[in-house]
Amino acid sequence: MSRVILDSRYFYQNVRVSLDDSALQNALRKACDEVLGKRAALVASTPHWEELRRAAHRIKEHTLARLDYYLLQLEKNLEAQGVRVHWAENAEEACTEILTIARKHNVWTAVKSKSMTSEEVGLNAFLEGRKIRPVETDLGEYIQQLSGEPPFHIVTPAMHRTRQDVGRIFAEKLGVDYTEDPEALTQIARRTLRRDFLSAEMGITGANFAVADPGLIGVVENEGNARLSTTAPRVHVVLMGIEKVIPTLEDLRVFLNLLSISSTAQRLPCYVNLIRSPRQEGDRDGPEEVHVVLLDNGRSRILADPAMRSSLYCIRCGACLNVCPVFQRVGGHAYGWVYQGPIGSVLTPLYRGLEYGYQLPFGSSLCGACAEICPVAIDVNHLLVELRARIQSGLNTSGLLERLAFRVWSFVASRPRLYRAGALLVRVAQSLALPRRRHLRLPVWSRTRTFPKLARRSFYRRWRQLADQLSP
Ligand code: SF4
Repeated sequence: MSRVILDSRYFYQNVRVSLDDSALQNALRKACDEVLGKRAALVASTPHWEELRRAAHRIKEHTLARLDYYLLQLEKNLEAQGVRVHWAENAEEACTEILTIARKHNVWTAVKSKSMTSEEVGLNAFLEGRKIRPVETDLGEYIQQLSGEPPFHIVTPAMHRTRQDVGRIFAEKLGVDYTEDPEALTQIARRTLRRDFLSAEMGITGANFAVADPGLIGVVENEGNARLSTTAPRVHVVLMGIEKVIPTLEDLRVFLNLLSISSTAQRLPCYVNLIRSPRQEGDRDGPEEVHVVLLDNGRSRILADPAMRSSLYCIRCGACLNVCPVFQRVGGHAYGWVYQGPIGSVLTPLYRGLEYGYQLPFGSSLCGACAEICPVAIDVNHLLVELRARIQSGLNTSGLLERLAFRVWSFVASRPRLYRAGALLVRVAQSLALPRRRHLRLPVWSRTRTFPKLARRSFYRRWRQLADQLSP
């Protein structure tokens, strides 16, 4: 995968590289099939799954329509419990805010639990450039950090790695003897990270959810590393996108079920950390200060765009990546930015601009599997089509001939009589030009697919005939 360029503007180029990498595709398909199989079994045994999805969709719709109200309620309730809340308009403000907190507390090492939002703002590079050592503590993230690569998948960052890969990375970067035994590898990571947990002055996490009433941050995980990151260091900083807020604990119940089944195919996650305040009198552990940084970074702009707003409903479960036939072939790095797969193809152009992500919405078969699997019932397909239309008209990437062809098509297709007459003409021309049922060949288009022969009778005529037969 090293030949892939980590830049969304090279998506087409990256796809070619990935398609030549059969080992990558095998690893991906195996990993995706496994999690999808387990997930399907859990969904089948979950009563009212569809109702839960619809409830989650409604909660997100409701919350985002009143986002200002819920964010202020969250801020008020968190601050009443001693948490300090900061607002960041963009990536730079978020990083600077965290740096200011770090400097105030003489932080040299910050342990981090998995946070895609921190990847989005480039926090690790920012801190490293200012002599603060960020240490990823989620095992997958840790492997990726040691190898100098960004996460490959929003839920399973090292999904493409074999245990032999991990053995080599640990031997090279940690100076331990090579082993490919998963148990031994886990023990090595645990021993090394334990030292960092105990010496770090700051813990940084994201938030899966933030509950406005009673004011708490929810972090879901399986390894216990987020629990250590939020309790061992003196200071805990939460970096979260403003769209993560939900109104009540009752709403949290809906999302907890949906998230763990969709992301890791578990009925419930191993740990659900609910953080309400810094350490209180009598507490045996916990940080002296808790800070929450509420990040906008383009989210308000998306909120103001009714056609794109539902992309903010995403709970980053990764299910749409696993089910996507394109992701299964090209993998996460091909997408060139933090968010991959179908939802990444929506988020990257929205967050970073169409000029940066203009290739991504076209990297989809539009099969609809992403929309079908999404636990929040986001119509990802529809978002991709909408972005395609914007890119086509905004960037004018199509050639003159193509634009002309679509104009003619749109003119004809919106006039039924003309359309039927045209179809008849094409049918006759086709039978004259291709009498022996050979297929029509078009330049470029026919390189990878066959032009279908038109049916002898049109759908319209068959429909009319059927309607006549069925009418009393
Ligand atoms: S779009 Fe839906 S399926 Fe994809 S990551 Fe977001 S919540 Fe999960």
